[in-house]
Amino acid sequence: MRITDCRYDRDRLRLTVAYRLIAHEARTQTIRHCTGLSGDRIRKLYRHYMQGQAGPRVRRKRGKSPRQMSFFRRSVEHELQAATFGALLRCCGLLGRPQRLPGPRIEEVARFCDVYETFLCICPAPLITFEHAWYLGQVLAHRDEFVLARCPDCHALWVRDTLDILPDNCAACRAARLPDAAPEDC
Ligand SMILES: [Zn+2]
Repeated sequence: MRITDCRYDRDRLRLTVAYRLIAHEARTQTIRHCTGLSGDRIRKLYRHYMQGQAGPRVRRKRGKSPRQMSFFRRSVEHELQAATFGALLRCCGLLGRPQRLPGPRIEEVARFCDVYETFLCICPAPLITFEHAWYLGQVLAHRDEFVLARCPDCHALWVRDTLDILPDNCAACRAARLPDAAPEDC
């Protein structure tokens, strides 16, 4: 009986997480990877979610998920938001180890959703979509080419490309040196 209850709880959590991912406009392949649900089941959840949606419509994104770390270097604001999100992941224990195969535990995905929703609360003009955030989390967890490092000048966390010699400090310090180019609030 207890095993049945446990399975029921996990199935319910899986569905709850899937709905959260749909609300964040995650692609079907990402939802499938995160929840283990089939593509057919996810499509039905999409339809069910759309029927019950009163606010702005969720866009169903298609095509490949983001796979370019250069996205997070597009501007000072992109860099600062990436650092903020990386710091939140680290605070919540989600950068401790690379993702397991065949996929993450559903509890970890739920925690990742908590972190992303916290990020949306503290960043009123977010540039990082859920898909970008998921990709950034995967890359940082591997601690290979890109790491969450301390800036040698201000000691804040920033996303550092370990293969690049420059820049060697965070976006906020670089922006502070530029005349009339103070970073916007995040
Ligand atoms: Zn700095």
